Amino acid sequence: MPTIQNSDLRRALADRIRYYNELGIYDFYQRECPAPESTNALEMDQREEMSPRKAAAPTNIADQNMFEVLASKPEQSVVDSVGALMLIREDLGDCTRCKLHQQGRKQVVFGVGNPRADLMFVGEGPGADEDQQGEPFVGRAGQLLNNMIKAMGILREDVYIANVVKCRPPGNRTPERDECDTCSPFLMRQIAVIKPKVIVALGAVAAKNLLAINAPMAELRGRFYDFMPTGARSNDPNWQGSKLAVTYHPAFLLRDPRQKGEAWKDLQMVMKYLGLNPPPKSES
Ligand code: SF4
Repeated sequence: MPTIQNSDLRRALADRIRYYNELGIYDFYQRECPAPESTNALEMDQREEMSPRKAAAPTNIADQNMFEVLASKPEQSVVDSVGALMLIREDLGDCTRCKLHQQGRKQVVFGVGNPRADLMFVGEGPGADEDQQGEPFVGRAGQLLNNMIKAMGILREDVYIANVVKCRPPGNRTPERDECDTCSPFLMRQIAVIKPKVIVALGAVAAKNLLAINAPMAELRGRFYDFMPTGARSNDPNWQGSKLAVTYHPAFLLRDPRQKGEAWKDLQMVMKYLGLNPPPKSES
């Protein structure tokens, strides 16, 4: 592993990594680099002058130890998932990383639920009620989601609920590519802390962002995918990733209730995997 001799360059690299950490980016990938043709230190330093592209592969030029220290996520220092989620929330802060922060959002809607949940639901983004209350899925779609969870024989408090973007897109428009790309690293970190057995992606936006697959809902539903959040280090022998299932977003089901039966089939697949049974029908 090459090391950096030039102290200015080391400082520049450290600043650049901090800059990416500020954006919520902690994961960098090593690219094989050919042996340098010249051993002239000045020439090498000039060639390695920092640029965003170079910074995406800093281990080409970085001292491994410095890089590991600077690039580790804050939550990796704690084992307790409640504390780890709090650290991610702190890191997010009063976020201004994407343009949604200046398009009328009242607050960042982080996520809610059991930090050690076996089951996690991921939606698209907060709506007006969620923005108002600071909690995902609390409006009409949230009520329907609560009913869906109850029909699975569990409670809302048993699961964890979050969205791909944490700020309300204006007029409830679909979040844009750059907004999803900027915000989703925080969702990935939440998933890596919670380590759910199953994630249910609610709607096409959540599914496409989590799976990086551009396909219609009809093709995405009806099966499990193996899912490991981007950047998660598989250093936990008890967690090798989640199963991910796709179903309709509750807001869509409110508009087209005929699809509720299809959504129920998706949830039954999840229940079977988790060993859940629907609650007994109450006699009246
Ligand atoms: S949507 Fe996410 S990245 Fe954009 S401002 Fe809100 S919290 Fe930050």
